[in-house]
Amino acid sequence: MSRKPRLPPPDPEPLAPLIDAHTHLAACGGRDPESVAAILDHAQGVGVGAVVTVADDMVDARWAVAAAEWDDRAHAATALHPTHAGDLTDETAEELRAMARHPRVVAVGETGLDYYWLGKSDDCASKQQQHEAFRWHIDLAKEVGKPLMIHNREADRDLLDVLAAEGAPETVIMHCFSGDEAIARECVERGYVLSFSGTVSFTNATELQAAARIVPDDQLLVETDAPFLTPHPYRGHPNQSYCLPYTVRALADLRDTDAQTLAGHLTATAERVYRIALPSV
Ligand SMILES: [Zn+2]
Ligand SMILES: [Zn+2]
Repeated sequence: MSRKPRLPPPDPEPLAPLIDAHTHLAACGGRDPESVAAILDHAQGVGVGAVVTVADDMVDARWAVAAAEWDDRAHAATALHPTHAGDLTDETAEELRAMARHPRVVAVGETGLDYYWLGKSDDCASKQQQHEAFRWHIDLAKEVGKPLMIHNREADRDLLDVLAAEGAPETVIMHCFSGDEAIARECVERGYVLSFSGTVSFTNATELQAAARIVPDDQLLVETDAPFLTPHPYRGHPNQSYCLPYTVRALADLRDTDAQTLAGHLTATAERVYRIALPSV
């Protein structure tokens, strides 16, 4: 049986201003200045005026920096994804250190722990490699004074313990937050910023939705993590930054506020933690 490719979701009703706190422009089809501009034009058309494009490996990291140089609506975050932690060598460490200081790089990430792929993929770094690389990235974020952007998959306890033991940098962003209310509370008390993706809009995400209700406005971000995690009711369809307003409206409903007020808080928080300003239109 062949599956038909699913169509991209229709454009949402515009909602401005918004910043996509975590996306992957290359995986969304960005290749050169023109294709990146096309993705960002589409996003800007519905109110998403800036994005942070995040790297997985060294090739992706170099590309993310280039994309951020091509277009002032794109900012970069660079690191080795935990599944690629085995790529950390003296040479790559030196290159990542230089990239982290680049003015268009606004965060060190995504780094952290991913236990989901352990044993499922031969390419996935071992637990020990992940812990070593995570600690190295924590130190790098402190060294360059930029936020640490965390990827966490099925590793809640170890992740929080490593952060506490190593000493967290001033700003920690829990990208695509996936914990329950208790983990959210612990993160909030530690001063971390929680970034919610389309998963918070999924109809069966009861625990995650409970978590999303207790985060203070100034510790809350929203992201697409595109091309994955497309918000309800387009789950399974291709995702891009222009889909962000769907998730913001779902979050506003959960938090019993209106989308416009929430957008203002989310954008103020993104501008503060990444130290960026939306380009004036
Ligand atoms: Zn991630
Ligand atoms: Zn990601």
